[in-house]
Amino acid sequence: MTKASSLELYKLRKELEVLEEKKGKGTELVSLYIPPDKNLNNVTSQMREEYSQAMNIKSARTRKNVQSALEVIMQRLKLIKDIPENGMVMLVGTIPRGTKDKMEVCMIAPPEKVMTYIYHCDSEFLLQPIRDMLTEKGTYGLLVLDRGEATVGLLKGKRIEIVRKINSTVPGKHGRGGQSQRRFERLIEIAAHEYFKRIGKHASEIFMNTPDLRGVIVGGPGPTKDFFMDEGYLHHEVQKKVLGIIDTSYTDDFGIRELVDNASEIFRDLEITKEKKLVQRFLSEVVRDHGLAAYGEKEVRDFLRKGAVNMLLVSEEVESFRVAISCSNCDHAESIIVHNLKTFEKELVEKACPKCNEKSLGIDEFKSTLDELTELAGITGANIEVISTETEDGQQLKAFGGIAAILRFKP
Ligand code: ZN
Repeated sequence: MTKASSLELYKLRKELEVLEEKKGKGTELVSLYIPPDKNLNNVTSQMREEYSQAMNIKSARTRKNVQSALEVIMQRLKLIKDIPENGMVMLVGTIPRGTKDKMEVCMIAPPEKVMTYIYHCDSEFLLQPIRDMLTEKGTYGLLVLDRGEATVGLLKGKRIEIVRKINSTVPGKHGRGGQSQRRFERLIEIAAHEYFKRIGKHASEIFMNTPDLRGVIVGGPGPTKDFFMDEGYLHHEVQKKVLGIIDTSYTDDFGIRELVDNASEIFRDLEITKEKKLVQRFLSEVVRDHGLAAYGEKEVRDFLRKGAVNMLLVSEEVESFRVAISCSNCDHAESIIVHNLKTFEKELVEKACPKCNEKSLGIDEFKSTLDELTELAGITGANIEVISTETEDGQQLKAFGGIAAILRFKP
């Protein structure tokens, strides 16, 4: 599965902000989530079924709008040969636009696999499944253990996968008759050592065979997990990836779940650390003589064109858009630079067309500054990171105009 870049995720987040504002007059906005393994013919016949069900809708307007949405979906489905790797999301519905309504169609390439088929009809689009995908934080290895059992799992986005359970063969603490206590204790230690070795081997194998593993989190009740870690039972490559050791009450599937719940702090810190490092690197270049830093849209754009940019840093608040708007009542069309797409779209609904004076203006297309910079960056292989404004470092970047670059060389 190809992983979405921070830029793609950022764009999708922006798209969601716009979609969140869209409301239908009735329960007539259709959201369709299609998993990749779904049969397209089945989806089409389900849409036909929904279409005839819609005959029962009392309001004539809602009925008409739901049926038109379903028609659009069926037409689109006809054009599709294969469902993409991650499945598909179609959001279709009639959005009020001043005096006239407009049928809007939004096809989203989900950043993660669509797991469940959803047909949803409401006065707004169903966006929560995409929001969940956006909180995706890569794949992490999970291990919980004590002296009784161990469970190995993977966290893929929000989904937890239990991969293996390992049972202990370590006898109980109390000696049996016929053996000296000392000899018995020695046997226990040997058995425990073998058991820990087994856990280490299985967990290391699983984690090392997981592509793009971003880190490992280990948990369990009591001091056993710490002993396990201190003694180095995990492969050294895996050991290096351990992000934290956390207390859990259980060592089974529940324990894995607990581990994930308790690790949220670790995940958040990781994101922030990455941003911090990039901004700090930029700042250290700024203060150096002949440092490899550039900032401000014009300067950065210039360096991008010369192929001199290694890493482009863009503050998430700096965004501006070039928006193409048109009137659905006459042929008026224009292009404007907009900073806040969300408020712009809200205000646009209330605005009269300068030509025909009807309130029927709408956005046809928008392109962000970021898109333009991305195209430039793509040609020269510069990396792009979108930096949040939640952290102090993010705020510092904002102070530099929100667009900055770490250069490969100074031309
Ligand atoms: Zn007009």
